[in-house]
Amino acid sequence: MGARDYFGSLFLKELLKGMMVTGRHFFSRKLTQMFPEERTPQSPRFRGLHALRRYPNGEERCIACKLCEAICPAMAITIESGEREDGSRRTTRYDIDFTKCIYCGFCEEACPVDAIVETRIFEYHGEQRGDLYYTKQMLLAIGDRYREQIDADKAADAKYR
Ligand code: SF4
Ligand code: SF4
Repeated sequence: MGARDYFGSLFLKELLKGMMVTGRHFFSRKLTQMFPEERTPQSPRFRGLHALRRYPNGEERCIACKLCEAICPAMAITIESGEREDGSRRTTRYDIDFTKCIYCGFCEEACPVDAIVETRIFEYHGEQRGDLYYTKQMLLAIGDRYREQIDADKAADAKYR
């Protein structure tokens, strides 16, 4: 043991350094958030639960181009499509398996009509595997329910896209 180590050990230098850190933080401003009563700010780009959006007239935006399905690195999206009576193409099935999703946001980036988006919702869970398998109707319902928030977030982000 060197002389410096010897005196450091004798006078409990490391302990005193630790006490100084404790003392410094004891009197500083506290950063602890008392969740869920207190919330940290969220970005408009927060990548949470997905939603499918509609146009103001109620028509669903998705045109079944399957770009989101193709780009999804987790292969979490399953789409089937069909032609409607008016000749337009729409999805007959649009499922997302959230046990696979890694919330990368690629599906949202790829979508040419801003149909699939990620919302600010992060407080959801499943107790069985199937609970995290969301169908088209479930995704549309999320889009309907949180439409105002989603529209505001898209508007806030529009100038950066
Ligand atoms: S966020 Fe990423 S992983 Fe999740 S569905 Fe979209 S592309 Fe797939
Ligand atoms: S959500 Fe967008 S990218 Fe995916 S199939 Fe529909 S229109 Fe295409």
